[in-house]
Amino acid sequence: MSEILKVTGLCKEGILKDISFSVKKGEMVAIMGPSGSGKSTLLYQVSGMDRPTAGEVLLGDTVVTALDEDALAGLRLRRMGFVFQQMNMLKNLNILDNILLPAYHICRSKADRAEADRRADELLGKMGIKHLAERKINEVSGGQLQRACVCRSVMNRPEILFADEPTGALNQSATAEVIDQLQKLNSEGMTIMMVTHDSKVASHCSRIMYLLDGNIKGELLLSETETGREQKVSRWLEEMGW
Ligand code: ADP
Ligand code: MG
Repeated sequence: MSEILKVTGLCKEGILKDISFSVKKGEMVAIMGPSGSGKSTLLYQVSGMDRPTAGEVLLGDTVVTALDEDALAGLRLRRMGFVFQQMNMLKNLNILDNILLPAYHICRSKADRAEADRRADELLGKMGIKHLAERKINEVSGGQLQRACVCRSVMNRPEILFADEPTGALNQSATAEVIDQLQKLNSEGMTIMMVTHDSKVASHCSRIMYLLDGNIKGELLLSETETGREQKVSRWLEEMGW
């Protein structure tokens, strides 16, 4: 597997202290660690939503940390996908139109828009929410809304999907549905880097990094065929002082 993301010597105002790691294409990486350990801050620096005080981030051959604001916005729109705990959907648009928004941003022609419509329809089907396309965002459950956010995040076929506690506001069954969708995308090749508090969620990942006081304290690899994943993750988290 080739590297898609390479982070070197990343620092942020005393919150992140000299963090280096890389992510290979097709990996599903979880970031865990106590509240305030810098997980969100790490995600924001890596995805170009904020600027680190030192260090370099490479996405493919692109030096993310060297880009100006316009180039960063373009990069985030075209090459990265985002899912957040607070779902950030526009209240005056229905589910489908919310999902289409980032795609329509980069459409140049009627044919582009037709292709975006087709892709939105396909994704809604894949996430099992096609029947909700015309609903307003306050007319669906939290789990359904987050699945719509997952659709939106991959509309432009990003190279990597960033998620900050995507199941943080969801109950157990909605969590399972959203994780199932993320895993489905990952099995089709999507690279995912996700912050989570939930060891069960993390146990679906191929690797877990444990952040403590702005440093990576440890890392756990989980092979595809690994059995007893949840117990393994729980034991490891205990070792980390979770
Ligand atoms: P986590 O996501 O692991 O809970 P955060 O990355 O949100 O942690 O926060 C890490 C640390 O940075 C915390 O101590 C928090 O108080 C601090 N912090 C977060 N955002 C800001 C900010 N905008 N300005 C100053 N300090 C911040
Ligand atoms: Mg956070």
